[in-house]
Amino acid sequence: MISRKSEQELAYMREAGRVVARVHREIARMIKVGTTTLELNRLAEDIIIKAGARPAFKGLYGFPYTICASVNEEVVHGFPSSRKLENGDIVSIDIGAEVNGYFGDSAATYPVGDVSPEVLNLLKATEESLYKGIAMAKAGNRLSDISHAVQTCAEGYGYSVVRDYVGHGIGKQPHEDPQIPNFGKPGRGIRLKAGMTLAIEPMINMGTYEVHTLLNNWTVVTLDAKLSAHFEHTIAITDGKPEILTKI
Ligand code: MG
Ligand code: MG
Repeated sequence: MISRKSEQELAYMREAGRVVARVHREIARMIKVGTTTLELNRLAEDIIIKAGARPAFKGLYGFPYTICASVNEEVVHGFPSSRKLENGDIVSIDIGAEVNGYFGDSAATYPVGDVSPEVLNLLKATEESLYKGIAMAKAGNRLSDISHAVQTCAEGYGYSVVRDYVGHGIGKQPHEDPQIPNFGKPGRGIRLKAGMTLAIEPMINMGTYEVHTLLNNWTVVTLDAKLSAHFEHTIAITDGKPEILTKI
């Protein structure tokens, strides 16, 4: 079942999205050589709780932290840790917050210190593929029009699209129907309608798209240990342009 949100529900989702965006802004400011991702986790939790919101990921399916912090070849679901970020690293931060029973979810990959142009290009391509996907999230389009736009952009840069993890509907639950792959032929799947709210989230790899999960049963890494980037926004489909609810 794919729900369509009322104006009141969208207002709650905007609030949740604003909290998530604020955490991203503060985290972006704090990331530097020597910062630990546990420090980022604490900062995120402080901001979310002070805003009167709830960390949406903490306890979700048993995940133990407020943010996912995935460094370098880690794709998603990395555990915040006391390891210091090093010059040239990239770190993907995924944040979820719940306000009045409604959820916002957004991710971004940040460079640490001086990052090579090749790696910055991966970040740029991944963010661009997210925005290409968002641009297709219009009433009347089909779900896979989003998927196809993301894939075309990322592969146009020579990168690969992770298959095993996908975007999702969001709202009263952190994960709702439908699933939104970041690959596929256009013109397939459900017809998009105003009031649907989606988390679009390309995970783009420099090498193979294949991934595996570490022994902690959470952290997903690339099979070839090459870098991966992740950008995500929660958006609402309207009768006009999509509304980004987690705009940083
Ligand atoms: Mg997320
Ligand atoms: Mg998500």
